[in-house]
Amino acid sequence: MEIYLDANATTPVLPEARAAAIAAMSADYGNPSSVHGTGLKARAMMDEVRACARRVLGAPTGELLFLSGATEGIQMAVLSALTALRKRRESGESMPQLLLYGATEHKAVPEALRHWNLLLRLNLRVRSIPVGPDGRHDLLWLREHAPRAGLVCTMAANNETGVISDLDGIQAALEGSPALWMVDSVQALGKLPLRLADRPIDYAPFSGHKLYAPKGIGLLYVRDGAPITPLMAGGGQESALRSGTENMPGIAALGAVLKLLETGDLVKPCGVLKSYRDRLAIALRDAFPEIVFNADPVLCLPTTLNFSVPGVSSKVLLDLFDAADIRVSGGSACGAAKAKPSHVLEAMGVEAWRCASAVRLSFGPATPSGLIDEACERIRACGASLRDNCLTQAFQRPSMPVDRINRYVVDGSVCYLVADPSSRRCVIIDPLPELTHQLVQWIRCRSYILTAVLDTHSHGDHASSAADIWKSVPAVLTDADTGDTDSLGWPRGSQEIPLGTQWLTRLHIPGHTRDSTAYLLHDARGLRAAFVGDTVMPGALGRSDFDVSEPLSFGPSLKQLEASVGRDTLLLPGHDYDGRYACTLGIEIARQPLVASVLASTMDAQSFAAAKAVLERDLAPTEYQTMACGARVDSCSKMAAAELKPSELLARIEQGEKFVLVDVREPYEHRLGMAPQLGEQVRRQAVPLSSIINAIPDWLSAEPDTTLVLFCRSGSRSAQAAQALRRLGLERTVSLAGGIALWPQQQHEARQVATA
Ligand code: PLP
Repeated sequence: MEIYLDANATTPVLPEARAAAIAAMSADYGNPSSVHGTGLKARAMMDEVRACARRVLGAPTGELLFLSGATEGIQMAVLSALTALRKRRESGESMPQLLLYGATEHKAVPEALRHWNLLLRLNLRVRSIPVGPDGRHDLLWLREHAPRAGLVCTMAANNETGVISDLDGIQAALEGSPALWMVDSVQALGKLPLRLADRPIDYAPFSGHKLYAPKGIGLLYVRDGAPITPLMAGGGQESALRSGTENMPGIAALGAVLKLLETGDLVKPCGVLKSYRDRLAIALRDAFPEIVFNADPVLCLPTTLNFSVPGVSSKVLLDLFDAADIRVSGGSACGAAKAKPSHVLEAMGVEAWRCASAVRLSFGPATPSGLIDEACERIRACGASLRDNCLTQAFQRPSMPVDRINRYVVDGSVCYLVADPSSRRCVIIDPLPELTHQLVQWIRCRSYILTAVLDTHSHGDHASSAADIWKSVPAVLTDADTGDTDSLGWPRGSQEIPLGTQWLTRLHIPGHTRDSTAYLLHDARGLRAAFVGDTVMPGALGRSDFDVSEPLSFGPSLKQLEASVGRDTLLLPGHDYDGRYACTLGIEIARQPLVASVLASTMDAQSFAAAKAVLERDLAPTEYQTMACGARVDSCSKMAAAELKPSELLARIEQGEKFVLVDVREPYEHRLGMAPQLGEQVRRQAVPLSSIINAIPDWLSAEPDTTLVLFCRSGSRSAQAAQALRRLGLERTVSLAGGIALWPQQQHEARQVATA
């Protein structure tokens, strides 16, 4: 059963609201503008809902318009205020210079201010009102700037943190100001007492879907006497202030919600909601003892918690909660290639690590107590899963087997931890400063002995964090024999680094830098993989235009690499911007003409260096805004996505086709999550993306007529991994479209909530 704790994003529609909407679409389907009986009935219903809304919002006077939602309400409020300001300018009156909005306002507000300011050619200065570390407006700042403001926008409560604005304080700060005042009241409805007419609020937008009504219906309150300009002109509905036939099912549904709000039958008393929040906070603390809450509960809506866990990103937390079938949301918008930190937390001055780990948990004010109990139980299971995977500071000895090659990626840079379960020794290759904590925790949690920390070259884009790692690992978990090492961490005088049943050797391959080195991993079966740094990356060669580069050595180094590892050994790169995991010289020969030419000896070292220099001229930064370490000649987007819909998969299984279903989610998700039910004839494997490299050799030598079907939570990680595996020669690899989220419900296996 899904537990939905993302009510600040949207809520399910209440059964009473659903019934009212259906009635307005069936028996009572009239158009309120019609003058016949069917129309009159519809109008009476609409009038009744408006009257109820006036009582619930404490707005006996002024306009109360039905429109599509808060974003439209915000547009209309801003357009109305700015049109009035333009009229003032046109009539030669003195003009305010500022349009102000709270720094933590929903994006709709600053965007609407900028949009209408531009369109109406007002050219006023749009400025954000700073907030303090508690998330509340800086009232001294506001008092100072309010006399020069034409419109001030301050939300009633924040959607990300739940912080309730000090409306009394804002009202006092605005005293004597000519500014109009908009209060975005979306998150306040049903959670805070609202007496709109008791304050000099000019505009207050509301949204139905944030409180159990459907999407597409909202309200805008406009104070009597406040300027008003229609956003939509047409048939003259809503006293010609908002034309267009009214959304009657939405209005009916909103009416049902408002009626229950008025009778007190919908929302739990504030004290009860606070006790729910406290129970959730205790469960979170039990699960993640180092948790930090990002806003003071005393100042917040009783239905919202925003928290961060040291060393655990929002992405990991969201995947973890989703695996436990709890829906929450991250504090950051991930639309860009690099996840942007939440502007709300940033405005509050919250440290970067807390922004990167922030999660919002919000429940509706009608949530039943039993759901909170179940949520608490699952949250504790989430904590146990993280501890069991050594991902929180309060870890426990893990029960999961250890992978030989563990891969970590930060903004396209890759670090590896090579582990040997028989000797409990490990080596880190190309450590990244952002990973120190995680790597040290890995070692401490599993009691492995750190034998070496190696760099494949002196990096141009970051400093090696080898020294920090050595400092942070307890002495008993380091190899006493390590002795003196060179600048890349290799023990001086040693031919190899022994790792129990495995060993590492090195190969000098200058080019990208003078000191570029490949580390070759061997075991009794032979050469297993080569860590090649930036020399060869999937679709690119490391750039060789640095002061420390040796461009003329690059071609010979590639030949040397081929002589040592052949064309089929997995090459593990130091950068992987497109999520391709690995490559081989054979694959790169087919995709990078320069590699093909130099290895076929049709191009000498000099011509190779010259051709490469042309590619590297004016290299743009990566999508992570980091320095590109090579020119990509084989773009990821050129590869076709290979997806299989659940229905197609089921049909092909029925026809007897052979599949292996591979769960690529991380172990902390496996432990909590469901997997598609597909019967005994379909083989299954759990291969987390962080350790997928370990499975590639076996897959490459497996039966050629078997199709690998990768799946994850949403289908996005598995789609990328499927592309990468196809590039590596596993052409029959596909991704399950939509992941577990779109797998038919009845086919899910029973969820096993681990509570250890
Ligand atoms: N204002 C706040 C505070 C919100 O939380 C939201 C929705 O997230 C909006 C405005 C936009 O509302 P709507 O989705 O109805 O346009």
